[in-house]
Amino acid sequence: MLSRKVHQNEARMDELRSEVCKRLEDFLEKGGHRRTPERFAVLDMIYAHGGHFDIDRLMAWLAESGRKVSRATLYNTIELLMEAGLVRKHQFEEGNSQFEPGYPARQHDHIILDNGEVLEFCDPRIHQIKRTLEEHFGIEVLHHALHIYARRKPSKK
Ligand SMILES: [Zn+2]
Repeated sequence: MLSRKVHQNEARMDELRSEVCKRLEDFLEKGGHRRTPERFAVLDMIYAHGGHFDIDRLMAWLAESGRKVSRATLYNTIELLMEAGLVRKHQFEEGNSQFEPGYPARQHDHIILDNGEVLEFCDPRIHQIKRTLEEHFGIEVLHHALHIYARRKPSKK
């Protein structure tokens, strides 16, 4: 019933990386935005690593790979990528904004551990709750965010 996210295999990863690259090209062209190499480098870095990140971590990834991208450019690029649906933003308690790849759209929620680690899960019962709310209140759910704050139990040995 409850499933943990399973990481993509490598062949699928390469496919995904070229697919999102194409999507960014289309998005930039349609919006009349410039096709700068930085924008593609940032996008590729995000999908190569997968998972959640904040701006500092993304800067570190880029620095490791020998790319210098200013913080201002990074924020600007992230904004564009969010608009393009290629990056999703989360605001967890007591932390910087966290981001993650937004394509393909995967409905999931988050468990934030006290050490900063973020786990993902998907539970169809949450979808059922939304259905029930829609019927009960005569509303249409547009979006939801569920953040569970937790810590690991000490392991019994
Ligand atoms: Zn996530």
